[in-house]
Amino acid sequence: MIVCKFGGTSVASAEQIQKVANIVKSNPARKIVAVSAPGKRSGDDIKVTDLLINLAMAALKNEEIEEELQIVVNRFMAIADGLELDHTICDVIAEDLHERVKGDKSNEELFIDSIKAAGEDNNAKLIAAYFNSIGMPARYVSPKDGLVVNDLPERTYALPEAYANLAPLKSTKEIIVFPGFFGYTKAGILRTFDRGGSDITGSILAAAVEAELYENFTDVDCVFSANPKVVNDPVEIKEITYREMRELSYAGFSVFHDEALMPVYKIGVPVNIKNTNNPSAPGTRIVPRRSVTGRPVTGISADSGFSTLYVSKYLMNREVGFGRKLLQILEDENISYEHTPSGLDDISVIMRSNQITLENEERILSRVKNELNADDVQMRHGFSMIVIVGEGMRNNTGLAARAATAISKTGANIEMINQGSSEVSLVFGVLQEYENQILQALYGEFFAHARV
Ligand code: ASP
Repeated sequence: MIVCKFGGTSVASAEQIQKVANIVKSNPARKIVAVSAPGKRSGDDIKVTDLLINLAMAALKNEEIEEELQIVVNRFMAIADGLELDHTICDVIAEDLHERVKGDKSNEELFIDSIKAAGEDNNAKLIAAYFNSIGMPARYVSPKDGLVVNDLPERTYALPEAYANLAPLKSTKEIIVFPGFFGYTKAGILRTFDRGGSDITGSILAAAVEAELYENFTDVDCVFSANPKVVNDPVEIKEITYREMRELSYAGFSVFHDEALMPVYKIGVPVNIKNTNNPSAPGTRIVPRRSVTGRPVTGISADSGFSTLYVSKYLMNREVGFGRKLLQILEDENISYEHTPSGLDDISVIMRSNQITLENEERILSRVKNELNADDVQMRHGFSMIVIVGEGMRNNTGLAARAATAISKTGANIEMINQGSSEVSLVFGVLQEYENQILQALYGEFFAHARV
């Protein structure tokens, strides 16, 4: 059995949904289909999810919502028309939105979640109706039937029992159309995953039914070895391991939601990223293991917006619990970190800058100084992380030297180097103004010539 997920652009219009139907029909193993809400039809279009967020915000402010609501209904109406579906489906959608808007507003986050999810939920119903109308027996299944998620305040994730609950879908005769992006808590409260979270739903379903393959249909042919917006015509990645994909999950590699790897990773279901608009292209396969041949580096990613907390204290290495106490201060501020390169008497904690505010920065600095008696504490902003990834890196010497030389030619100073313990990745922290130049230089160093 194959589980496939179709992203926003793949289900943005009647024409796109017809392509989806053809893809599903062309392989009888494609029995479970997870769908996003209609996404952008062209560059300046607005995703239905964003329209729904606008609607939710207007409802929270007690503003007039009819116009916002009608814009959403019209998007579905255009799709239904194009698919020659009966208009009653649009009445059902309008009624559903009115119901949701009347819902409990006591917790704003949950209220917004319930409206946001209407894009996926109604699209799944519409697509199931379309499949049936063209003679493909299909059934809409609600996440209420098993996709149980945790309660607030933590970010949404599927509880272990979700997998057992959804496992019986394996024996389905019809095609199941399942809305992506959300689940329900044990108490029956709807919660959405992060943006782009339909990838996660597809992965949960693939793991639950132990699918032979999880196909993730999007609007690009494959994952590229570097961000094509920065590097000219980068090499396509045909096969990549979960671990490599995970390490590359910085900017330019956001084709597949990083949290979506976890469910399939646990039981080893391979993932195939494919293009709805070019389904015969082989796409990129994400696999548990691969034989390492040819080029040692698989991909290079780069992302800006990092800050570093630098702490130094004489004899830090002898002080039992120093690292824990430092990280506790960040945990108290609800801050997650990416890397912690360290020396004998100093340590840097690298984190996403969007978690830092003037207030929490001041609190962190003064707590580190006073509670840990640090000699020096500084928070610095404006860094980029450049990550070189490849399973073959472990068996190759001199890669770090080659990378450092390529970086030095751009004139940038390397502020931090971190080699993951698995030796699958090498991370360089640099000032963000050098990011693109460095990405191009590294790509030239490791990928120029031989297209493997
Ligand atoms: N529709 C949601 C979003 O725009 C989820 C998804 O498409 O994966 O983020």
